[in-house]
This record gives sequence, C-alpha cells and structure tokens, in this order.
Amino acid sequence: MSDDTLFDKILRKEIPAEVVYEDESVLAFYDINPQAPVHVLVVPKARFCNVSELKDGDAETVGRFMMGVSHVAEKLGLTERGYRVVFNTGPDALQTVEYLHAHILGGRSMEWPPG
Ligand code: 5GP
Repeated sequence: MSDDTLFDKILRKEIPAEVVYEDESVLAFYDINPQAPVHVLVVPKARFCNVSELKDGDAETVGRFMMGVSHVAEKLGLTERGYRVVFNTGPDALQTVEYLHAHILGGRSMEWPPG
C-alpha cells in the first residue's frame, strides 16, 4: 500500500490540478478523464486508503469530508437537478488510486444499475 499516491502529490501541489474548492478538511478538483459533463474528485486532507479503512474514531473527520462533498456540489450548481457520488472501494469496484476520494458526477441524467 503506497502512502505517496497521485492524490498525495496533488494535495502537496507537486502535481497540478484544476481546483474547484478547498477548505481545512478537503480539496476538490476536476477529474482528468471526465465521465459526465461535471466530474469532480473530492479528497480529505486526512489520509485514508478507502472507505474500508475507516474506523469509528474517524467519524468527525469523515463528517467534515462529507460536508465538503456537499459544499462542492452546491458550488458547482448541481444541487437542484441532483448528482451522483461514487466511492470506488477496492479491486472489484476498480479503485485505481489508493487514497479515499469521492467522485461527484453531474450535468446529465444517470443510469442505474451502474456497470
Ligand atoms: P478511481 O478509479 O480510483 O475511483 O478514481 C481515480 C480517478 O482519478 C479516475 O477517475 C481518473 O480519471 C482520475 N485521475 C487519474 N489521473 C489523474 C490526474 O493526473 N489528475 C486528475 N485530476 N485526475 C486523475
């Protein structure tokens, strides 16, 4: 398990990203390979590999992270029509970056079930 992933480097500003929102708990930036008209990634500044790694003691940190997701969606104008939040978690979900992140996808109607 690497602790120096792409998102660690983006958080340290070593790799550029198009930032849309930042506060003391999260950084949000556009996905380089968008899957919807709006596709933003939100990462917590506290480091976790994915949802499976969260512990009960992380509840406050995770709460602030989820508030960041909500703020980003509102800032992007997605709240009225809605949007999808995705946490790819582990190999079956095709998680490629081992740093907890939420995908915010919006700007079009989604389909269900996902592939
Ligand atoms: P995952 O597959 O782990 O859920 O999501 C990783 C996401 O990171 C993918 O949607 C992928 O397009 C995005 N990504 C990969 N490399 C870069 C990059 O260099 N910059 C940005 N902004 N996104 C990236």
